[in-house]
Amino acid sequence: MKYLLPLILPIFFISGCATHQSPTGRGQTLLFSANEINQMGDQSFEQIKTQEKISKDKATVAYVDCVANRITKVLPNKSIKWDVVVFESEQVNAFALPGGHIGVYTGLLKVAENADQLATVIGHEVAHVLANHSNEQVSRAQMTGMGMQLADAALGAGGVSNKDLYMAALGLGTQVGFILPYGREQESEADIMGVELMARAGFDPSQSMLLWKNMAKAGGGQGPELLSTHPSHSHRIDDLSQMQAQVMPLYMLSKGKIQNQCQNLK
Ligand SMILES: [Zn+2]
Repeated sequence: MKYLLPLILPIFFISGCATHQSPTGRGQTLLFSANEINQMGDQSFEQIKTQEKISKDKATVAYVDCVANRITKVLPNKSIKWDVVVFESEQVNAFALPGGHIGVYTGLLKVAENADQLATVIGHEVAHVLANHSNEQVSRAQMTGMGMQLADAALGAGGVSNKDLYMAALGLGTQVGFILPYGREQESEADIMGVELMARAGFDPSQSMLLWKNMAKAGGGQGPELLSTHPSHSHRIDDLSQMQAQVMPLYMLSKGKIQNQCQNLK
């Protein structure tokens, strides 16, 4: 019997952590505390800021700040102070990290044609953080990481550090060279929550469908970087279209109260 213990204990540990529930009622395996996951977000953000070129273009920064701030203002947890950084890069990409960090690449601004479409992406990214998807992804990386490292060593590609693994898991795959895409259910959850966030922040939710159509059309060698970590699925546009009746009233309500019209800054 005692030989079974080492096998049983990890299973208990993992299933013990699976009692968490996502906002849509899915079971989640979360191995890290909020504090730990926020620290990973803080550290990853610091690292990216040293790797990427930070935009000094005042108009662009003001525009992105305006959209992001309106989204973060409607979040339930007011204790987190979000910072927003614009990166000068052709990448069609954006991310949000635990600990309150948002990064937007200037390449995205060519695909997101207006403030409402940019709000679609930022709302979606922030929703991943709110729904603990970052924690879920990092937990998954932790559990499968050893396997990945072994496979990597077998291919002679050199070691992958835990730090790289966490970066990739936080949706920052393009920075470390390998991708851990979000799952279909996580993507749907982020779409649903994101479109509600944008409507509450006074952005037109019908633009969300156009954004994802533009994203699918966007060219470049392998397509937009954002789609490599946020795989699109065939039902995305249908799901968003079905959401419209629910979120339109929220938009109508909030639209009249919004003073800060970001679109004028573009
Ligand atoms: Zn996503």
